[in-house]
Amino acid sequence: MIERTLSIIKPDAVSKNVIGDIIRRFEQAGLKIVGIQMRHLTKKEAEGFYYVHRERPFFNSLATFMTSGPVVIMVLEGEGAIAKNRALMGATDPKKADKGTIRADLADSIEANAVHGSDSPASAAFEIPFFFSQLDLVR
Ligand code: GDP
Ligand code: MG
Repeated sequence: MIERTLSIIKPDAVSKNVIGDIIRRFEQAGLKIVGIQMRHLTKKEAEGFYYVHRERPFFNSLATFMTSGPVVIMVLEGEGAIAKNRALMGATDPKKADKGTIRADLADSIEANAVHGSDSPASAAFEIPFFFSQLDLVR
């Protein structure tokens, strides 16, 4: 099934100049970018985006990290895009991520882990319209 998923290149990866490296991995896996924007999130925006994690002990630290520099936010489209993106990303903790994944290759820590990706169709349905209007997405 052709799906859409939300991807964020997090501040640690943007500051390391690896935006192109990450986008190349998506393109080589057959995922198409149908929306893209660069922005520096406010604390309120980061907290709103990560609302599902509001009870987690790392919530405040995560929201602060996500506002520490600009991010690149994308909608990726393709066959099984949600699972495909998660496989390219690797495990949350880069120490546990499989070799060759984005997080194993480029992430610094369990928090500064280079990329975000929607984890389910329900998450994608919340996350895509959080940042993109229908008019911002090509088809
Ligand atoms: P993901 O879906 O693999 O991104 O992981 P989660 O949805 O579980 O967590 C969301 C984000 O919170 C992660 O990508 C990390 O940036 C951060 N995070 C997750 N677990 C921890 C943790 O134990 N400590 C800290 N400081 N941050 C974490
Ligand atoms: Mg998640």
